[in-house]
Amino acid sequence: MSVLVVGSMALDTVRTPYGTIRDGLGGSATYFSGAASFFTRVQMVGVVGSDFPEEHVDFLRARRVDVSGLHRLPGKTFRWSGGYADDMNEATTLKTELNVFHDFRPELSAAHRRAGFVFLANIDPDLQRAVVDQIHNPFVVALDTMNYWIESKPASLKRALKRVHILFINEGEARLLARENNLFKAVRILLSMGPSTVVLKRAAYGALLFQRDGLFWVPAYPLQTVRDPTGAGDSFAGGFMGYVSRRRELSPGRLRRAVVYGSIMASFCVEDFSLNRMKKVTPAEIQERYRRFRELTRF
Ligand code: AMP
Repeated sequence: MSVLVVGSMALDTVRTPYGTIRDGLGGSATYFSGAASFFTRVQMVGVVGSDFPEEHVDFLRARRVDVSGLHRLPGKTFRWSGGYADDMNEATTLKTELNVFHDFRPELSAAHRRAGFVFLANIDPDLQRAVVDQIHNPFVVALDTMNYWIESKPASLKRALKRVHILFINEGEARLLARENNLFKAVRILLSMGPSTVVLKRAAYGALLFQRDGLFWVPAYPLQTVRDPTGAGDSFAGGFMGYVSRRRELSPGRLRRAVVYGSIMASFCVEDFSLNRMKKVTPAEIQERYRRFRELTRF
């Protein structure tokens, strides 16, 4: 099995209390693919500009990511710059430059249209819909978004949500999209917009899995070093969807284990800037954190 992702590929400039990185490898599809590639084959759909270093694409190829859906257009790559205050729980966006995303209209290959598992990573909801429209008969469609799109394209985002089974969203964005401050009420409103499962990300406080009649909650993996939280949400989704897409089965037990694998991949992501830590992760380290999660949450 494999998972198809559409999302941003970016050059990020990020400042945290631990340092600054300029034009580092980033993007929602990039973090997702890096994390998911430990579990399954990833098919990536996206666009970069002529300034995007080829070594970043080589990294994805080395992780066996199918980059045949990655387009290179003349112009500049998408750029995001942001920063974090001391608690590092929420990013402040300083600048978003869409650049080549302005004119990108994805056209999927015949093989990609047969995808069973689809992840619509954080990107313009018009593009998310353009991709899902082309997939013949997906088994699971999941979507992530952020305040930028909730505020600028709410109608398009709501249309996309009607096509989605699993929504990944962080706490503040859930409140913004549902226009409701109480988290549990907000999730109920989101569940009425289309998805049957909502995965609520709460940064250092962990993640919750909501379905109409069920709730599951895990803490974040306890870490001594958190250098840069950028990409944690996408790495979470990568671990989650990578694990889920190994089998055409969405049992409650599998979804719970997926939340744990998501949390583990997010924990690696935040230990260093960009995908630097992710590049060094081994399957044995993933299994070791899985074992520790079991210990931590059993009583
Ligand atoms: P996360 O920290 O998991 O929410 O995602 C961080 C990544 O999202 C960064 O690498 C950015 O390049 C990317 N990003 C930030 N803003 C946007 C946006 N408006 N659309 C698409 N991707 C974005």
